[in-house]
Order: sequence, then C-alpha cells, then structure tokens
Amino acid sequence: MTANLLEMDLEGLAVFCEGLGEKRFRATQLFRWIHQKGASHFADMSDLAKSLREKLQVHAHVQALPLLSQHISSDGTIKWLFDVGDGNAIETVFIPEDDRGTLCISSQAGCAVGCRFCSTGHQGFSRNLTTAEIIGQLWFAEHFLRQHLDVSERVISNVVMMGMGEPLQNYTALVPALRVMLDDHGYGMSRRRVTVSTSGVVPMIDRLGSDCAVALAVSLHAPTDALRDNLVPLNRKYPLDELMQTCIRYLSNAPRDFITFEYCMLDGVNDQPEHAQSLVALVKHHARQGLRCKFNLIPFNPFPASGLLRSPQSAVLAFAKMLQDAGLVTTVRKTRGDDIDAACGQLAGDVKDRTQVKERMAQQRTIMLRAVPE
Ligand code: SAH
Ligand code: SF4
Repeated sequence: MTANLLEMDLEGLAVFCEGLGEKRFRATQLFRWIHQKGASHFADMSDLAKSLREKLQVHAHVQALPLLSQHISSDGTIKWLFDVGDGNAIETVFIPEDDRGTLCISSQAGCAVGCRFCSTGHQGFSRNLTTAEIIGQLWFAEHFLRQHLDVSERVISNVVMMGMGEPLQNYTALVPALRVMLDDHGYGMSRRRVTVSTSGVVPMIDRLGSDCAVALAVSLHAPTDALRDNLVPLNRKYPLDELMQTCIRYLSNAPRDFITFEYCMLDGVNDQPEHAQSLVALVKHHARQGLRCKFNLIPFNPFPASGLLRSPQSAVLAFAKMLQDAGLVTTVRKTRGDDIDAACGQLAGDVKDRTQVKERMAQQRTIMLRAVPE
C-alpha cells in the first residue's frame, strides 16, 4: 500500500519527504500542488525534480473517497454523497451565499451520540473517517467547483464540521485535517471561518483549544440537564455545568470572542417560553464567570423515525425574541437544500439504489453549471 498524501498535514508530509531522502522544503511544494492546485498526478507537478516525482509514483498517491452522487438544490446548494464502503456513505454539502461559500463536512460515517432529533444519530455509528477522508471532502469540492465554475480563485471561504458525525469523537483524524485547512500553503482559511460543531465532548473541547483553536459551535438544544439528557445522551456524561465551564476556558484561546450555541427547535419539547427563560438564566449565570455566546436557532428538519415535529414559526420567533430581549444575540438559521435532503440532520448514510444515483449524477453535472450563482 502506498501512502495517501491527503492523510498528512504539512509537518507530516515533511517527515514523509525526509523518509524518501528529500529535503523538507520539497514537502511545501508538493503540499501546494495538492491543496492549492488540486493536483493528484505527480507527473503534472512540473517544478518537482523528476527523481522525486518517480519516487512519489512508487510510494504515494492522492485520493479522496469515491463519489457516488451529486444533487443540486433549486437554491444552489449542492450535496455530494461519498462511498465509505460496507454499503455506507457520507455527505458533504456546499452552500453558496452572496458573500461566502460554506462547505459542511462529515467527520464520521454515522454517529455514536444518538441524539433523538438527528437522523445520523438514529442510523448508529459505522466508523471514523480518516484525515484523508475528511480533508478529501474539501479538496474534492474546492477543485471541482473551481473547474466547473471556471474560476481560479477560492470558492469555499468557510468550513463547518456540521455534517455527519461527532468531530470531537474522531479527534486524532480531525486535527491534522483542520491544520491543512488553516495552513497558508494549504487552503489558508481563517480560524474564524472554520467551525467545529460538537454535542459537547468536554475533554476534547479543552484539547482543541490548546491544539488548534478554531471557531466553536456547541449543540445545546436544552436549558436543563433533565431535558438535555433525553435529547443529547452525551449530556449524562458531560452535564451542562461542565460544558459551560469548558466553553469559558475555550474562549481564552478562541479566534472569536463568543461560542455559538445551536438550538434545534422541537415542537412542544424545548420551544416553550419556560425553556427560553431557563436558557436565559443558564447563560446569565455563566456569563458572570466569563461566558460569551450567541444563539443560532435551527428549525427542526423532521424525519419520521424521530416522532418529533418542527416548532411552528411563531414559536421560533417568540423564543428568539425572549432571548433577544434578555440581551442575547440570536439568529434563526435559514434552511438550505431542503429539496435535496441536504438540510441539517437529514444526512443519512445508507445508499438505497446506487445505479439510479449514478445515472442521475450524469444529468446533474450539467444542471449544476446553471444552478450555482455567479
Ligand atoms: N455532531 C455535531 C456536528 C454535526 S450535527 C453536533 O451535534 O454538533 C450539526 C448540527 O445539526 C447540530 O447542531 C445538530 O444538533 C443539528 N441537527 C441534527 N439533526 C437535526 C435536525 N433533524 N434538524 C435540525 N438540526 C439538526
Ligand atoms: Fe451525532 Fe451531532 Fe447527530 Fe447528535 S446531532 S447524533 S452528535 S451528528
């Protein structure tokens, strides 16, 4: 087996090059070819010595996960499904907006946390993705979009680790992938524009703060331990008070001066005025110890097995107003890609009909050029 160079951050690649008897700076050139130019054939890397290219042919390859399908929403959102083997797939979603392009990346096939309102959670855990499989989603999407939109500048400005899986339960693969995103010789993304979203793996939030502090989103969903235990089972291990303390510690290294709290609005479950009141009380209590946060209310994307319903818009707005009146910055997330099941929590990994999916891919390649705004 040869080495997949997508598995390595720049330091890892330098060590690999040294192992081939090459100077470390060769790694920088190689890294730029891969991540900045999207190259996967060593023969194309014209400024690398022929001897190095020959060694690379023998010992290395550059390969992302096999693509199964591509779906394009009427709003320009694109969802890619990648094969992770054993009949499972993961999804990557590109969300174009006027001032940015956001890629939503998966970190695991399935998820072991098992949140009640999440279809990935209902599916169970299949396996961790490797670093190559995580960064490969960005590598593929960025260079695919540049080629198909016929642009040479960067298309993806933001990454959110909000696809399938709990990124902080796949920490060792996640961190090198984040480093590649941030590296000036890689994607050169700002720490503020790379967001890790977590259901609250407390020790790993602390480690992330010291190893690779990027923007942090915490999936809160409930103001009390009793309710959160029920919605996000991980809360039984890391209850709210511990979670809040970790968020406060994270802020000392964070690239932004607030943590984003995500709150999925579930009809009659966590969307009542008393929930908003307890949420304000929770946050105000911890604000005295240094917590600074913003709220992002997510309209629940229903799926039958959950037995849950989306909160009515009036409840969402009333909830948002109660938080805002208490001085908490609160936004309501726009749902994107609804028509292609690319919205939060709709990402499910079982591939039902591969042939059909492959046929549709061919048609959709053509549609895409028209669907993505200039
Ligand atoms: N595991 C991480 C990141 C992936 S989930 C986490 O839980 O934070 C990304 C976001 O989508 C989380 O805030 C999650 O709570 C939310 N989400 C999950 N299922 C959803 C659904 N059915 N409708 C709306 N949001 C959902
Ligand atoms: Fe896992 Fe996040 Fe879904 Fe919970 S919401 S099951 S942590 S992917």
